[in-house]
Amino acid sequence: MIPFNKPAVTGNEVKYIQQAIESNVLCGDGPFTKRCEQWFVDKLLTKKALLTPSCTHALELAALLIDIRPGDEVIMPSYTFVSTANAFVLHGAKIVFVDIRPDTMNIDETLIEDAITEKTKAIVPVHYAGVACEMDTIMSIASKHNLYVIEDAAQGMMSTYRGKFLGTIGHIGTFSFHETKNYTSGGEGGVLLLNEEKFIEQAEVHREKGTNRSKFFRGMVDKYSWVEKGSSMLPSEIQAAYLWSQLENASKINKKRLSDWASYDNYFNSLKTKLPIETPKCPEECVHNGHMYYLKFESLDIRTKFIQKMKLAGVLTPFHYVPLHSAPAGKRFGRFNGKDTYTTSHSECLVRLPMFYSLTDQEHSTICGTASKIIKEILCD
Ligand SMILES: *Cc1c(COP(=O)(O)O)cnc(C)c1O
Repeated sequence: MIPFNKPAVTGNEVKYIQQAIESNVLCGDGPFTKRCEQWFVDKLLTKKALLTPSCTHALELAALLIDIRPGDEVIMPSYTFVSTANAFVLHGAKIVFVDIRPDTMNIDETLIEDAITEKTKAIVPVHYAGVACEMDTIMSIASKHNLYVIEDAAQGMMSTYRGKFLGTIGHIGTFSFHETKNYTSGGEGGVLLLNEEKFIEQAEVHREKGTNRSKFFRGMVDKYSWVEKGSSMLPSEIQAAYLWSQLENASKINKKRLSDWASYDNYFNSLKTKLPIETPKCPEECVHNGHMYYLKFESLDIRTKFIQKMKLAGVLTPFHYVPLHSAPAGKRFGRFNGKDTYTTSHSECLVRLPMFYSLTDQEHSTICGTASKIIKEILCD
C-alpha cells in the first residue's frame, strides 16, 4: 500500500534529540528552540519567530495579539481547516466566509471588500497547497479599512509571493509542523511569525502563561509576575531538536518535493488533453513549495469511485476539507457572505495524491499509471 503521507526524516533528528536529552534542558525555549527561531528571522526575514506546539496554537496566539472580542468579525475562506476559524471563535468572534477562486482554491480577493462591516477586525488568507493568495490586493484592502491580516501559511513554508516568503507578508503569519506538512517537529508543532515589532513583547507574555518570564530571563525585570491573559504555548526541546534537523535540510526537502510535483504535473497535464481532469494552477507571481498535488474531476461521483478504486489498487488518495460553513459549528459561529459558487462544488471534486519526502520514483510511477488506468475505467463505465 502506498500511503498518502510519511513524516519527513532527514537523518539528524535522533542525534539532536539525544543532544537535547544530554543537555538536561527539555522544557521550552531552550537552545534548540532559540536556534530554530533565529533561522526563521535570518532566512525568511520576519521580525520575530516563536515556536508553538502547533499551528492551531500559533493562530490562537494571533487572535490574542489582535485582541479579538465577542462580536468581532473575521473574514476567511470556508475551504480551510477548522483551526483557522476556531482560533477566533474561542474569543467570541463571528466568522464571515468568502468564496474561493477555482484556479487556486484560495480566498477570492475580489469578494473580500463586500464582506467587510464595521465589526470586521481581520482577514485570514489561507495559502492552500502552499500557493499564495493574491496578497497585494489583500494587503491594500486591509490597509484601506484598517484591518489586520493574519496569514494561515500552515502549508506554505518556503513558498513565495513576488519574492517574499509566505507568512512574512501580513501582520502575523503561522506555519504548521504537523507530520503531514513539508517540515515537521516530530508529529506536531508550529511557529508564529511576527512581522511587526509592536507584537513581540505581548506575544511572549501570552505564550508564557500571561507572565513576563521571557523578560525576566533576559534580566530586564528582577522577578516575573502575571501581567496578562495567557496560556502555555511552548513546544518542548525534543520537538525543537527534531525541527532543527529539518530546517538544516529545508532546501533539500523543498527541491525533492518540487521535483515530484513537477513530474506529477507533466504526467497529468498530458493526460488532461484526453481526459476531463483539472490540475493545480500556480499564478505567475507565486512560487509554491510542492506541498500538495491534487486533481479535480467533473463530479463528486467520479471522485468517490476514484478514491475507492485507487484504495483497492493500493494507493491512498484522500479528499480534503469539507467546507466549514456547512459544518454544524460553522453554521453556529459563521455566515457565508455572498454566493457559494466554487467552495462546495470544487471541494467535492478534489483528491490529493501521495506526496512526501521519501516518495520513491518507483512509487511515483505506480501512482501515475494506476491513476490514469482508473480514470479511464471510470469514464468507460
Ligand atoms: C495543518 C493546518 C492547520 C493546523 O495545523 P496544526 O499544526 O495541526 O495545528 C491550520 N490551517 C491549515 C490551512 C492547515 O493546513
